[in-house]
Amino acid sequence: MYADHAATTPLSSKALESMMPYLVNDFGNPSNAYSFSRAPKKALKQSRADIAAAIGALPSEIYFTSGGTEADNWAIRCVVPKLAKEKKRVIVSSIEHHAVIKTCQSLEDLGFEVVALPVDSNGVALPGYLESVIDQNTALVSVMLANNEIGTIQPVSSLAEIAHNFGALFHTDAVQAIGHIPVNVDDLGVDLLSASGHKFNGPKGSGFLYIRSGTPIAPVLFGGGQESGLRAGTENVAAIVGMTVALQENTADIHKVAEYLTGLSHRLISQLKDYGVDFTVNGSPNRIPGNLSLSFPGFDGEMVMHRLDLAGVSVSTGSACNSGSQAVSHVLRAIGLDEELASGTIRISLGAENTEADVDYIASCLIDILQ
Ligand code: PLP
Repeated sequence: MYADHAATTPLSSKALESMMPYLVNDFGNPSNAYSFSRAPKKALKQSRADIAAAIGALPSEIYFTSGGTEADNWAIRCVVPKLAKEKKRVIVSSIEHHAVIKTCQSLEDLGFEVVALPVDSNGVALPGYLESVIDQNTALVSVMLANNEIGTIQPVSSLAEIAHNFGALFHTDAVQAIGHIPVNVDDLGVDLLSASGHKFNGPKGSGFLYIRSGTPIAPVLFGGGQESGLRAGTENVAAIVGMTVALQENTADIHKVAEYLTGLSHRLISQLKDYGVDFTVNGSPNRIPGNLSLSFPGFDGEMVMHRLDLAGVSVSTGSACNSGSQAVSHVLRAIGLDEELASGTIRISLGAENTEADVDYIASCLIDILQ
């Protein structure tokens, strides 16, 4: 039983079906001028328009990437140095994914100052916190739309407004949010937004960066003229088409699935409570549907995860970072969990294909293990 949808999601069958023609028959290089390339070229154009429509952007503002990590690296590494003449500061929330945190840290070697934006005990980067650290020297503020460990959704539109008042650009890593909560770049007011196909039932190795028109940005890859000369390399047409179909599918059902997953989460929580299990739920009540970061005092999250695995249930630990290291997660530390509680944390992330019977089974396994 798969209950780790924040790590990755199953490929939707519609997405797979939509990819097949571009893997088998219409495999031409979309950059070529002959008629054989017409179908992949058209598919690429349509995908760009459909992704743009799904997030309220212009097609010319969508740039395809190999996933979220590349989009994050590009948004930070290739924008901040462009502003270097006047601005030398980057502000990044303390609970970002390592794709953002480590990229920001790499700017220190180029002479930039990286400032960590604190979060409250629910993992929220409050607007007042940003106001207390931002100044006219700030080039970029990067705060994720939703956190991958605790699911907390950030007040991105208020944060972006503050950044703009200080003449800074705003990037959001929306990898965990897109396809799960409604996302509109104008409502959010962001300049840059990263997304990853495999987090919303698209294929792995697909993603995109939204770049608002007029945002100064350097190419991430040099070579051919693909992606308006900013990201060279032959496009992965099949993956882009699959990602687009998956996003459209998820977007169409977004409210229904959110309600369903919230119901499943409540069901799990109330069963644990009914059995008197001692646990806390991490993160803000305003979080990604189906995300449950649970801490069990006195227990080892690694042990709980492995015991669930033996019972056939895949979940993540909330304590170790995704590299498999045993270090306590920077996210759980940032929300103030002590080492013991952080070590006793697991992350269950439910998806649309999970059922009430799945949740009942997970609850009964957890109760067994903890008893
Ligand atoms: N950002 C967040 C918030 C994520 O959760 C992840 C993946 O776990 C990434 C970025 C990296 O995305 P990808 O796996 O597509 O490189």
